[in-house]
Amino acid sequence: MSAHAILITGANGGIGNATARYFLEHDESCYVYLGIRSGRNEADALAADFPERCGVLSLDVTKAAEWESSLAKVAAEDRVITVLVNNAGHHDDHLMANMPLEAFSSVIESNLNSVFLGSQAVLRGMMGERFGRIINISSLSALLAPLGQTNYAAAKAGVIAMTGSLAKEVARMSITVNAICPGYIETSAIETGDPEQAKARKKTIPMRRFGKPREVAAAVFFLATKDAAYITGATLKIDGGIF
Ligand code: NDP
Repeated sequence: MSAHAILITGANGGIGNATARYFLEHDESCYVYLGIRSGRNEADALAADFPERCGVLSLDVTKAAEWESSLAKVAAEDRVITVLVNNAGHHDDHLMANMPLEAFSSVIESNLNSVFLGSQAVLRGMMGERFGRIINISSLSALLAPLGQTNYAAAKAGVIAMTGSLAKEVARMSITVNAICPGYIETSAIETGDPEQAKARKKTIPMRRFGKPREVAAAVFFLATKDAAYITGATLKIDGGIF
């Protein structure tokens, strides 16, 4: 029997790295694979802290072949992914009138196609185990549809719809599929270098502060537990009360 493992994509980034650390700190029996596309600093630091319980996979989430090779590596190590956190993604904002096709396509690929590829890659293993947790990091942008984000809002809204549809397909196999919609979380993704803009953004948040990556991680961790078995197809917003 293969040992169960967790795979977190975009694990060199703010939320992905905090989520991996949260799992490693709160479940001493878990094994976590860090999916990394480039710049491994944060992931390497984490793997050094937990050398026995952490593995790094070279994974551009938009490439089917890299999902295939990553899952082959997991299988060769006699493990099966039973928790997948589809976290990797990026935004590239433009008003639609000026949006290059490349900005539209790449945002759809990294945020939406990736969730299709990743979920499909792990489903067979989860079905074999009759257990699985897929947690998709969407965004509050999916619900608010901000201007300048026709690409990102559409991709993240697609993630919510895909979550609901897949949740129904696999519910009978004890596989749950849920989405999380973070608001403003303190990572490089919202860094503009403009303190006035940060101040203005905080004024729109009832809690008057940005969220911490760890506050998203805690919710991901709970959704991955066995106790969260009856939660599926759900969308959980973590936004300090904005919406
Ligand atoms: P970061 O920019 O810190 O991290 C994003 C990570 O995703 C990076 O490590 C990046 O890798 C990786 N990534 C992007 N594209 C790919 C790809 N094609 N293949 C593999 N990895 C990729 O941002 P966050 O941690 O904030 O973002 C994590 C998720 O949370 C994203 O899906 C984002 O859309 C979502 N989100 C974030 C919010 C926030 O306020 N921070 C709000 C709402 C949603 P690389 O280092 O190689 O670029």
